[in-house]
Amino acid sequence: MNVIFLGPPGAGKGTQAQRVSAALGIPQISTGDILRRAIADKTKTGLEAKSYIDAGQLVPDSVVIAIVEERLTMPDCANGYILDGFPRTVPQAEALAKLQSIDSVINLDVPDAHLVNRLSGRRVCIKCGATYHVSMLKDGADPCVACNDKLVQRDDDKEETVRSRLAVYHAQTAPLVAFYEKEGILHTIDGAQSMDTIYDAILKTLGVKP
Ligand code: AMP
Repeated sequence: MNVIFLGPPGAGKGTQAQRVSAALGIPQISTGDILRRAIADKTKTGLEAKSYIDAGQLVPDSVVIAIVEERLTMPDCANGYILDGFPRTVPQAEALAKLQSIDSVINLDVPDAHLVNRLSGRRVCIKCGATYHVSMLKDGADPCVACNDKLVQRDDDKEETVRSRLAVYHAQTAPLVAFYEKEGILHTIDGAQSMDTIYDAILKTLGVKP
């Protein structure tokens, strides 16, 4: 099953994709995670991507398309995958359509006002990538529940950058809703509901028993 998780930054794509990936036994492919790893490893791609990510802008299509093209040839994608954060532009969606056929697009719909609060309050474990919201933490120095490592705020989760990312989403990524609607594979789910309700709705949409 080849699935795309679509939605604005902070809609919960990563969290849901991780859970659904574990349930279905297919990989979650997050272009954001791949790019952040490339930046940490100081690769050529990482160096090229860094200034765009820090500014809340999209990394050029040619860079991300090449990343995804290579990733989809790996053996763990043979039975399907969940694309989390790709495609983000119409040219990316067109490039993907030439490579593979997509079965379902899950579109998580969340109003902007929720997203600014969610993202600017998000804290991420430096080791395992688990995410938390400051409202769940007792004080600023709480460690990760899963691995006891430090929680930090992603640079691009600072409020100014969050606003740029949302503007970029509306200008460049939101047109994909119409793109996939036309293909007849778009399923929109209210992403402001509880995480468990959203998860159940996604499984139902994909025809998977919980
Ligand atoms: P994410 O973790 O998905 O929010 O991605 C973080 C940042 O990585 C984005 O704000 C973009 O700068 C970059 N990025 C991730 N995926 C893509 C993509 N498909 N196209 C362009 N830039 C991307």
